[in-house]
Amino acid sequence: MSDCIFCKIINGEIPSTSVYQDEQAYAFRDIQPAAPTHILIVPRKHIDSINAMTDNDEQTIGHLFNAARQIATQEGLAENGYRLVINTNAHAGQTVFHIHLHLLGGRQLTKMG
Ligand code: AMP
Repeated sequence: MSDCIFCKIINGEIPSTSVYQDEQAYAFRDIQPAAPTHILIVPRKHIDSINAMTDNDEQTIGHLFNAARQIATQEGLAENGYRLVINTNAHAGQTVFHIHLHLLGGRQLTKMG
C-alpha cells in the first residue's frame, strides 16, 4: 500500500533499525520503546489488521511468531521471557494499520488490562 508507513519501512523509503528479515517478514526497533527491548515484526504482505486477515494468511501470521522466537533468542530474552502483542482497532490502541507483532522484553512487565 503506497500510503502505509510500515510498507515504506519495508521497502526502505522510511529508515528503520532492522533486527531481522526474511522473505516473508521484516523486524525493526520501535521508535517509541515501551520496554528496554521493543521490536515490531511485520509481514511483507500488507494486511490492515487481524480483522482483515483471511484463512490464506494463516501461514503468514504464524511465521511472525516463528520470527519472534528467533529474535527473542538473538536479543537474549528467551530465558527471562518476553511478551508478544497484536493490537486490533481502537480499544486496543492500534495506530498503524499494517499488522505488526510487538515483541517486548528486558524488564519485568506489568499485568495487562
Ligand atoms: P500500534 O499502536 O499497536 O498500532 O503500534 C504502532 C507502533 O509503531 C507504535 O509502538 C509506534 O511507536 C511504532 N512506530 C510508528 N512509527 C514508527 C517508525 N517510523 N519506526 C518505528 N516504529 C514506529
